Amino acid sequence: MTKAVTVIGAGAVGVCCALYLQREGFSVELIDRSGPGAGASAGNAGNLGIASCVPAALPGVLRKVPRMLFDSTSPLKLRWRHLPRALPWFVRFIAAARPAQVEAIADARQQLLSRLHEGLDPLVAEAGAQALIEHSGLLMTFESEAAFASAAYAIDLRRRRGVAMDILDGNEARQIEPALTPAIVRAIHVPRLAHTVDPLRLTQALARCFERNGGRILRAAVRGFEMSSDGPRRILTDGASVDADRIVLAAGVWSRPLAAQLGTRVPLEAERGYHTMFAHPQARLRVALMSADRYIAVTPMADGVRATGMAEFAAPDAPPDMDNARRVSRHAQALVPGLTADRVSEWMGPRPSHPDSKPVIGRSPRFANVYFAFGHDHIGLALSGITGKLIGELVAGRPTSVDLTPFRPDRF
Ligand SMILES: Cc1cc2nc3c(=O)[nH]c(=O)nc-3n(C[C@H](O)[C@H](O)[C@H](O)COP(=O)(O)OP(=O)(O)OC[C@H]3O[C@@H](n4cnc5c(N)ncnc54)[C@H](O)[C@@H]3O)c2cc1C
Repeated sequence: MTKAVTVIGAGAVGVCCALYLQREGFSVELIDRSGPGAGASAGNAGNLGIASCVPAALPGVLRKVPRMLFDSTSPLKLRWRHLPRALPWFVRFIAAARPAQVEAIADARQQLLSRLHEGLDPLVAEAGAQALIEHSGLLMTFESEAAFASAAYAIDLRRRRGVAMDILDGNEARQIEPALTPAIVRAIHVPRLAHTVDPLRLTQALARCFERNGGRILRAAVRGFEMSSDGPRRILTDGASVDADRIVLAAGVWSRPLAAQLGTRVPLEAERGYHTMFAHPQARLRVALMSADRYIAVTPMADGVRATGMAEFAAPDAPPDMDNARRVSRHAQALVPGLTADRVSEWMGPRPSHPDSKPVIGRSPRFANVYFAFGHDHIGLALSGITGKLIGELVAGRPTSVDLTPFRPDRF
């Protein structure tokens, strides 16, 4: 008899888990309350960030974070009524900034990032979605020598992990991307970095491929589980309940309450980001951009140019504050002066973030038939394919191609 797996959450991570589980021979059902790609996977910057091994917490963060939280122009925001819940997260975040921790976290992230294309490319090819991926590289820009100097630690972390990048002056950067402001004095060029030109359509294309392979997608909100002595046996939704042989929980930031119901507590917070879409801008970009001074990314997409940024700590489903999207768009227009357009759309989505900048990928410490795949913070699109591959190997009972010890659910 074919063994069955139910994947909760059809974001980029859940859909890739579902596809790899099919490849392992399982009969797979995906459950999502809003359909494929509805969460953070819809509106992200689209970068397949091979240079993203650097964690969010770096030495010096203890001085920086409080200052940023009280600065109204800062990209870091905390809704004050959320403080009691976020405080323990920030304490762990600061602890993760010790140099030895940073090295270990960067190693763990690099383990996954170095296999990003090994995980994602076969799925993109199977889905016939290659046209949604561009290999045009990325420029990280600096508008002062001081800002560039303060990036030395992060550059060194990347270099020591073999990330291929070139350091450019402002003129060299503008030769690669003429639309950049003359204010740029330095840039890091990552020539081999790819991006998707439509993150939502990419997840939807992968989900359609899953259905073509015989997978089922159920639109329902998971509310809880019916437990037997050795683990959950039924998944309770706002509609019908569903039999569950094995469960993969991949519901992004919304995994936290469901994991708690399954006996595992994780410090997972919504680091809410915003985007503004410039539908038909005068400026056409050749490459993806990240501004180190402005904490934004600007990506050429199929339907225009997308500017993303902000890290707002609040409940995942609290109403968005679109002033944040407008702040992002103002910075994007300063970085790329020709970025004007008649029609502009705005969006908010929650990055699922752990304080130690690592996802949870592994088997539940409580129940043998439960697996976790969530908490991919700023790099969940990039890591979706390799996470799916690892979950496939794990559920099939095979040795995983990456040591999953750093990503254990019970490490906190
Ligand atoms: C502004 C911004 C820019 C970003 N840029 C990048 C980037 O350039 N590159 C990159 O790699 N990453 C980027 N990220 C991060 C990336 O978007 C996330 O890490 C990734 O999308 C997480 O995917 P996921 O599948 O885990 O979660 P999600 O995409 O959030 O999916 C979770 C799914 O679970 C479903 N769900 C939730 N609760 C339930 C329930 N109870 N029952 C059923 N279904 C449920 C939701 O409907 C949703 O579809 C960015 C994020 C933001 C916000």
